Amino acid sequence: MKNTVVMKFGGTSVGSSDRISAVAKKIAKYIKEKNEQVVVVVSAMTGETDRLVELCRKVSGSKYSQREYHQLLSSGEQVSAALTAMALLREGVQAKSLLAHQVRIRTKHVYGTELIMAIDKNIIEENIKSGIVPIVAGFQGVDEFNNYTTLGRGGSDTTAVALAATLDSVPCIIFTDVDGVYTALPSICKQAKKLRYLTYEEMLELASSGAKVLQARSVHLAHKYKVPLWVRSSFSDDYGTEIVKEYKDMEDAVVSGITCRTDQVKITLRDIPDTPGTLARIFSVIGEAGIVVDMIVQTKGLGGITSLSFTVNEESGDKTFETLSMLVKQEMNKARIEIDKNIAKLSVVGEGMRTHAGVASKMFEILGREGINIDMVTTSEIKISVAIDQKYAELAVRSLHEHFIEF
Ligand code: ASP
Ligand code: MG
Repeated sequence: MKNTVVMKFGGTSVGSSDRISAVAKKIAKYIKEKNEQVVVVVSAMTGETDRLVELCRKVSGSKYSQREYHQLLSSGEQVSAALTAMALLREGVQAKSLLAHQVRIRTKHVYGTELIMAIDKNIIEENIKSGIVPIVAGFQGVDEFNNYTTLGRGGSDTTAVALAATLDSVPCIIFTDVDGVYTALPSICKQAKKLRYLTYEEMLELASSGAKVLQARSVHLAHKYKVPLWVRSSFSDDYGTEIVKEYKDMEDAVVSGITCRTDQVKITLRDIPDTPGTLARIFSVIGEAGIVVDMIVQTKGLGGITSLSFTVNEESGDKTFETLSMLVKQEMNKARIEIDKNIAKLSVVGEGMRTHAGVASKMFEILGREGINIDMVTTSEIKISVAIDQKYAELAVRSLHEHFIEF
């Protein structure tokens, strides 16, 4: 659809009645000035999804019905979508809230997550043609049995990008409570700078390494469907950060961002048999349990045994431990399992790493100088990640930022 833009407003942007009114004014002003069609996606009001998760835990304990969990969680976005539509109507703009079943956001359960299979763009287009601004509830989907599903925490970003992709890859602006993507978290690192541009791949690496500004899946989708993507503040008119295919000025800084996440745990399996198929067996059991694994390190021992460490999200930690305990008991009775909850994953990301050598050695040298021990290492073409002790996480971010970015 020509002249259309998808605008997504996050939880803080719609966090109170005043903020919803401000968002409505911003949308109304945009429509008037730019003469563009707008499709809006909203998150639940800030804190609401956490409140619902907590209610679920209180009522059900640790074992709960997946169906009811999604029915419950998806309700937060219904509230903010309806309120945003009301606020727009008050501004004199025709608007209508639309839930996942009304836009037919079809999802399918694949490897522990709900993936969007299709969105019915006719409904959106019909509304636009009638002069109505569609306000789509983010985060929600509907499965093949008409049950509500949800797209994982932060999933409204993915709703917004998927809608933009469906509408023939129109631009998507993610409005949030920060004015763009920073070289590091400003609350940890005072010297952090706002980035004017980032490539999709850098943004994807940053998002999956702890930068909370966008859900990683949404960046992947935007890249795949060539959706122009911006991160902007809903509270200012700043240009924000634009996510681009490649830099026009290729001689940019080697490192674009430093992130740190402390929401992972490390699982170690010691004294497992060093035989073909052992790792396949371990990871197939974990995969079947719907657990997503991140960093993996294997250390070979003597005498036909080996040790294996890997990280998983902390909410999967106990489940991983239980799943492996069962496997060890049944098939590898000499093995031992340990769980370390005090790790941090520290990453440096930058397109420049494709062509510059020595980033890893410099990173290790800086951490060594600060007395920080490195537990695990993984790399991609544009990222180096290490696992370290959580208590050094902020110090490590500041030291790496000082060296790689503030020179
Ligand atoms: N409300 C959901 C969450 O808190 C989705 C989102 O905000 O994007 O995770
Ligand atoms: Mg978010």
